Amino acid sequence: MIDVFEIDWSDFMKRFFKIILIVFLSLTFMVSFFAIGTIAQGFFGGNSKTVNNSDNNHIDENKLPKEEVKGEEVTAIEDEAQEAIEEAIRNKEPNNINEENPLANGGKKVFLTFDDGPTKITTEILEILKENQVNASFFVIGKLLIKNTDIALKAYEEGNMILPHTYTHDYSIYSTLETFYEDFYAIEKLYEEVMGFKAPPILRFPGGSSNHSSFDYGGREFMPLLTEDIKKKGYYYIDWNVNSGDTGIDFNDGEKMLENIKKASEGKDFIVILFHDTEKNKEMVSILPQVIEYYRDNGYTFRTFRDITEEELDKMIELKLSNKPIVR
Ligand SMILES: [Zn+2]
Repeated sequence: MIDVFEIDWSDFMKRFFKIILIVFLSLTFMVSFFAIGTIAQGFFGGNSKTVNNSDNNHIDENKLPKEEVKGEEVTAIEDEAQEAIEEAIRNKEPNNINEENPLANGGKKVFLTFDDGPTKITTEILEILKENQVNASFFVIGKLLIKNTDIALKAYEEGNMILPHTYTHDYSIYSTLETFYEDFYAIEKLYEEVMGFKAPPILRFPGGSSNHSSFDYGGREFMPLLTEDIKKKGYYYIDWNVNSGDTGIDFNDGEKMLENIKKASEGKDFIVILFHDTEKNKEMVSILPQVIEYYRDNGYTFRTFRDITEEELDKMIELKLSNKPIVR
């Protein structure tokens, strides 16, 4: 029989400390587990305050995407630049074509211009131009254009240019800006009806831009006023630097006219020559083939306002053949 009071205290104490040790170790394990868990959350949880406040992480996280965006921006800019270059090349094509066109490229040039038609004489001029394979520009009067639409259309069909020279050609149109534009807009309207397209902004004033015929109507200051005004409206008015003399005292003397034309052309590489296709100008028509021959033999190419280049227009302004400033 075992006496409960006869406990082996040594064994009891051993067991007791064993339990305490197990409980301690268990608690230590659990605490360690939570601690590791918390630290782990700190590193991988993402929403932890510690990470958001970490400058290094913040910079690192945002720097990379920024650099990537910057890279895309650079690429986009490069693409835009490339497109702009291609667009510029596309836009330059017409000029390149003109530059490659020997007719427009350098050398001596002559623009044959005929005022005051169209008339029956115009038809004869068209035949000569065709035979010689050259083209010209015709500054037409509205009241004749309405009667001779077929001649104007034929001239255009054959590669020549038709341009406005006012409706009435009456110098009284130089009374006021209103009287001038009333007449000028009338020929522009008629031009569009006859030709089927708007008149380009190129004209010739009756008597030229520096005419004195306007003195009797709008006074000496009228042409300076009108030329400035029409320039502001975007027009180019065209004068000449060689006059055939077909309205002067020699209009019936072909030899004299030819001699004068050659003399006036000497030393000029860029010529706008003035003729008149009025019915009385039969003598001018008779020397026209010789005039063409003279320019051809002297290395001129025949140009028109139909395919005039910007460069040529600039040259005309420089030579005061277009938009000549009128100072009284
Ligand atoms: Zn005229």
